Amino acid sequence: MERDPFADKSGFALSTYGFIVVAVILAIVAVVELFLIFRLPHSKNQPPAAIQAETDPGPQIPEPATPAIAVEWPLILVNESNPLPADYEIKLAVLNNGLEFDARAIGFLEQMISDAKAEGLFPVVASAYRSVERQWQLYDNKVARLMAQGLSQEQAEKEARKEVAYPGTSEHNLGLAADLVSYSYQHLDDAQGDTAEIQWLHAHCQEYGFILRYPKDKSQVTGVIYEPWHFRYVGLPAAREIMEQGLCLEEYLAGGQ
Ligand SMILES: [Zn+2]
Repeated sequence: MERDPFADKSGFALSTYGFIVVAVILAIVAVVELFLIFRLPHSKNQPPAAIQAETDPGPQIPEPATPAIAVEWPLILVNESNPLPADYEIKLAVLNNGLEFDARAIGFLEQMISDAKAEGLFPVVASAYRSVERQWQLYDNKVARLMAQGLSQEQAEKEARKEVAYPGTSEHNLGLAADLVSYSYQHLDDAQGDTAEIQWLHAHCQEYGFILRYPKDKSQVTGVIYEPWHFRYVGLPAAREIMEQGLCLEEYLAGGQ
């Protein structure tokens, strides 16, 4: 029997159509499977939507005025109204005179002293890290001495705070402050600021990440008298800005007023 050429052709056309349909179905199945294979492991590592929403700040939340700088460790503010957090952990390293300083910043302090010595100067670290326990001893001794002079407990405590920081509110408790004096003049008074050593440190401390923490004209802001000998490590960028603009740390952290 002679084959109908049209039947042949339509048979070919049908099988081609069938092949395309099967190929499209296979392709869809393959895409769906690939999607599942690659998506599943990711979804295991992703937090549930609720947690994700909490950790994702989203674009609509405005940035705070002073965002990151306030939380960096060299810029921790410690003063009468900002006591050191009770759980503050400190890793100390020892200076060659036996005093201790924050291990992360001690290298800058040593370099500053060594560069001053290379200029023929002789600064001495008179005080560095002080534990809160040691601060209590100093404070209690001061109160006791004032009470022995006839002051009431309340009066004595009020007076003592003017000279000895209340425990936990001294930068020395933080481990990032050092009192530096001239070897030839070791008194903690205004005249210390006139020594060649302290003059050099006032001019160069920012090159090592340090600032003069209690400048003469900032007592109203810092709440502390002029202390030409007290230097605080705040890190290089902040130290440059603070010293060049004549700020104190409180002003810098408040945005530079
Ligand atoms: Zn000091």
